Amino acid sequence: AKQAGRNGLRFFDSKMQDAISARASLEADLRVALINSEFQLHYQIQVNSLGAALGAEVLIRWMHPQRGMVSPAQFIPLAEESGLILPVGEWVLKTACHQLKVWQDNALTRELTLAVNVSSKQFRQAEFVELVKKTLQSSGANPSLLKLELTESLLLENIDEIIAKMNELKLMGIHFSIDDFGTGYSSLQYIKRLPLDQLKIDQSFVRDIMDDNNDAAIVQTIIAMSDALGLNVIAEGVETREQRAFLDSHGCHTFQGYLFSKPIPLEQFEILLATKHAA
Ligand code: C2E
Ligand code: CA
Ligand code: CA
Ligand code: CA
Repeated sequence: AKQAGRNGLRFFDSKMQDAISARASLEADLRVALINSEFQLHYQIQVNSLGAALGAEVLIRWMHPQRGMVSPAQFIPLAEESGLILPVGEWVLKTACHQLKVWQDNALTRELTLAVNVSSKQFRQAEFVELVKKTLQSSGANPSLLKLELTESLLLENIDEIIAKMNELKLMGIHFSIDDFGTGYSSLQYIKRLPLDQLKIDQSFVRDIMDDNNDAAIVQTIIAMSDALGLNVIAEGVETREQRAFLDSHGCHTFQGYLFSKPIPLEQFEILLATKHAA
């Protein structure tokens, strides 16, 4: 038994060692990726009840020369821990604002909004407001078409500072959405004080909305809460017509999910928009 235990321990050690070096190598690659421009943005359409395009959420993709496409679920947490999220986030914001400006100058796309994910660490950086201001100015993008998606984790510390920052950005015309709403621990007391525009119902509640009474009840509560607070509400992860019909009949009229489109590269997204206009 003792022997087996020792072997077990050694096995565990080497596994941990592997995980640590895999992480270190991914982090090193992430630094190279910034220099070599290996990132891309994919666009996922957001639609209303009629299926018309309201805008898109931008989701980052890492095209690694050897590993292939690395999912943000894999590298965003690492980027946050290493601080690399700051330059990565800056690139995302810059690229998104540039695209907003291009759409803004075209009659068919002039009202499309772009939602950009902002990690808590990024929002907390001292220069964040200045960075957004600068990026909007140099791109010429209309601030009121830019929506920043924040998560409830941002609200755990220094809430007054966060609110002050949000208000500054709000004054410029920027919109705010709380991403993955309902999965965090934010109290209504906080939510009520934030200059928000939208709550985004997390896909984990949408997934089983048709089979799980608890999820259905949570979704209905979030919709009612949005109404009471005068906020817009959007559901993410909508994959079936049934889910859309449920949400629509319960008062959520803005959707995002595979039912409409996966996140896709810009060229494909613009083709998707064109087919919508033709229809
Ligand atoms: P998120 O912001 O909650 O994004 C939604 C995720 O759900 C995306 O995964 C999207 O591809 C996926 N999704 C969309 N519709 C459906 C659907 O109908 N069904 C299912 N099963 N999934 C759907 P993705 O692109 O892998 O991104 C994962 C997470 O990585 C994002 O979650 C976000 O937290 C983070 N992320 C992505 N891009 C950025 C970025 O530019 N900056 C930051 N800070 N985080 C990002
Ligand atoms: Ca998001
Ligand atoms: Ca989300
Ligand atoms: Ca999520």
